[in-house]
Amino acid sequence: MVAVARPVGVVPTMGWLHDGHRALMARARVGNATSVVTIFVNPRQFNEAADYTRYPRDEPRDLAICEEEGVDLVWAPPVEEVYPAGFDTTVVVGAVAQPLEGAARPGHFEGVATVVAILFNVVRAERAYFGQKDAQQVMVIRQMARDLAIPTEVIACPTVREPDGLALSSRNVHLSPPERAAAPALRRALLAAHARWRSGERSAEALRAVMRGTLAAEPLARVDYVSVADGATLAELDQVDGPALLSLAVRFGETRLIDNEPLP
Ligand code: AMP
Repeated sequence: MVAVARPVGVVPTMGWLHDGHRALMARARVGNATSVVTIFVNPRQFNEAADYTRYPRDEPRDLAICEEEGVDLVWAPPVEEVYPAGFDTTVVVGAVAQPLEGAARPGHFEGVATVVAILFNVVRAERAYFGQKDAQQVMVIRQMARDLAIPTEVIACPTVREPDGLALSSRNVHLSPPERAAAPALRRALLAAHARWRSGERSAEALRAVMRGTLAAEPLARVDYVSVADGATLAELDQVDGPALLSLAVRFGETRLIDNEPLP
């Protein structure tokens, strides 16, 4: 990269920027001398071709948002710049990439780890900001950066939500009005399980049942998975007696949404 003031903070995104991305940009801008946003819809992390094709894109709007947020540099490369002819390397992260999104979306985290390794090496930021909304992604990237001795510090930032609790996501644009009305069921399910945990329930299966029960009341919701997993390894738990992650993936029509809530 050209000579820039240090430290550098980077926010990797796939564009169609929303307030969740803006919160990450604000963290990068406030905490660093130079803030960088990358915008790249990474074909390698889509396990469904249709999901990649219909992923929303609007580069002029995204650039305007970066400017509004005071971002210093944007890198929005074409696919051939990231993956030139002859590109032939894949970064494969181990155990933490296997369950949940790794199991539901074969190849997804290989694509994520590969592209993030590339952009960490291109941007060479001191810090990179990611959303807790993609909790497993943060864990996979931390593992990758540690194992590959990439010095960029991986910082997780809180999930930004709509007033009704739905986590902001570029994919929300695909929800029909009835699906959009139904989508806060993800948050309700997580909060119901969290409340049950606070009132003393420690059986992971009981907490999963609370989430399934909440989602079952929403006819448009088709559950992909509900999980109560170890907070460090993401292995499914029998008993919750340490840090854990409640998480779920739910389809509304063609649109698949994820959300999570940590248990301390
Ligand atoms: P994406 O463009 O969806 O790949 O997301 C880029 C970054 O923004 C990732 O680190 C996401 O976890 C993060 N992000 C996406 N949605 C939210 C949200 N609602 N709140 C906070 N961060 C988010």
